[in-house]
Amino acid sequence: MQPLANHVCPLCGGANQCAPAKAGTLDVECWCSTVSISPEALARVPAELVDKACLCPRCAAAVSPTQPGQAAPDA
Ligand SMILES: [Zn+2]
Repeated sequence: MQPLANHVCPLCGGANQCAPAKAGTLDVECWCSTVSISPEALARVPAELVDKACLCPRCAAAVSPTQPGQAAPDA
């Protein structure tokens, strides 16, 4: 299995710092394997990119790049 060369976050288009994508091998561990990804962030990833492109650390933490400072939408 080869990592996909997805170097950008599918949500914001920023660098996702995905180590396997950068190295071209899954022998390196991605930072995202050690953090928990926000379900809200995952829900916003296009279906075709789920499990294919890493989020960037900011989006993984569910900090929206487009709606800064907005309160939780489920109020
Ligand atoms: Zn992002």
